[in-house]
Amino acid sequence: MELKDLKPALVWNLFDQITKVPRPSKKERKIVEFLLNFAKTHQLETKKDKALNVIITKPATPGKENLQTVILQSHVDMVCEKNNDILFNFETDSIQTYLDGDWVKAKGTTLGADDGIGMAAALAILASTDIEHGPITALFTTDEETGLTGANALDPDFLQGDILLNLDSEEWGEFCIGCAGGKNTLGTFTYQWEPAPQDYFWFEIQVSVLKGGHSGSDIHKGLGNANKILARFLYNLSKENPVVLSKIDGGNLHNAIAREADATAGIPIVAKEKTIVLLNILQAELLNELPAEDRNVQLNIRSVAAPAHSIDIKTGNNLILALYALPHGVMGWSFDMPGTVETSTNLASVKMKENQTIVVTTSQRSSTASLKNDIVDGTTAVFRLAGAEVQSTEGYPGWKPNPSSPVLHISEKVFQKLFGEKPQVISIHAGLECGLFLEKNPKLDMISCGPTVLGAHSPEEKLEIRTVEKWWAFLVELLKNIPQSE
Ligand SMILES: [Zn+2]
Repeated sequence: MELKDLKPALVWNLFDQITKVPRPSKKERKIVEFLLNFAKTHQLETKKDKALNVIITKPATPGKENLQTVILQSHVDMVCEKNNDILFNFETDSIQTYLDGDWVKAKGTTLGADDGIGMAAALAILASTDIEHGPITALFTTDEETGLTGANALDPDFLQGDILLNLDSEEWGEFCIGCAGGKNTLGTFTYQWEPAPQDYFWFEIQVSVLKGGHSGSDIHKGLGNANKILARFLYNLSKENPVVLSKIDGGNLHNAIAREADATAGIPIVAKEKTIVLLNILQAELLNELPAEDRNVQLNIRSVAAPAHSIDIKTGNNLILALYALPHGVMGWSFDMPGTVETSTNLASVKMKENQTIVVTTSQRSSTASLKNDIVDGTTAVFRLAGAEVQSTEGYPGWKPNPSSPVLHISEKVFQKLFGEKPQVISIHAGLECGLFLEKNPKLDMISCGPTVLGAHSPEEKLEIRTVEKWWAFLVELLKNIPQSE
């Protein structure tokens, strides 16, 4: 058996062709060429914008001309990850696919089912001669995986339509109807070097062995944040004694929950014993507070020689107060989608930079634009109280779930009719291209769905064959049931 022998043949045949075309993020020329040739072969109209996004339009089948226009959207780029023992050039080589029981996999590399299977389904609708549908626009975006830059730069004319089906979800049976928007807020503290008090007890404190995770999809788990734990210790210590800092560092990426943080600090020598006591108390408290996966957390202290210089007391104190006061974690849950995080913030990193500054990076998310701005402002207010300069990134927009979306209701009906069960309806707490589409065409009614893909973005990526067949049956039936345009 090969890919081409699987059913539905049209979809698998096109997926097979797509896997043979190189398409790393930001290097999409070859796959764009492939799409333009495909459109030519099928005598369909195409447009390409500056960011290499492509649309291919197909008229309605006879009698369906009055239906609403459906945009079938997928992204053309793929994450290029391979095992170390494999020689493979993603810019020139074809993905080596193979069948393994119920799954399609690739030999030692990412498969690119994310989102090659979405492309294949859209092309199959375009190539079909026996499926009833209204006017179709297939939209293919570039560079989804490294920053949604294709969708961000998308020509708004490419979104002329009523309904958008995003074909980039990875769990069959789930309909996604919302995502978070995001923004980063950075506080910059400027300090003076002062001679460090030489008669203090100087120590290095390290917080480590936390699990960490994605600041969107893992934020509801209550995992430990090394920056928050370090700040809590320093704050506790500073209640009774002046604390002088000479070094502080924590976390890394803006979208990761900090796993490690450390500081070098000094306190009057009389408080040395107290330091150890407070450390042990905090360690015990954390074991009682944190979820099971974070109970290996380590708080280690070791004495060090007094440094020559330390951060001026006022700035050091303001930094400790700010880090302790800055919120972290889930800020609010969705009313429309119970059990779904609506708003969150991540205290991502603390970094000492050149020219005597310390930059604290935080990252806010919400599916509701005003709540995203609210938590950005709240974070900004804490930074301002502490005398830091504050900057926010431009960020990206969210997609607020609309439980009364017409396309959701039709999709639920079709799903129930075909499979005799109810689909899950979810909203994710991470960014999707859909947020950007909605910004460009606020009237779009959208839903995201796809077959099951496991291990996406890794060489373990695999696509479940039977879910492709079901998903395809669903798409075909859904297109038949699209309402008339007004
Ligand atoms: Zn994707």
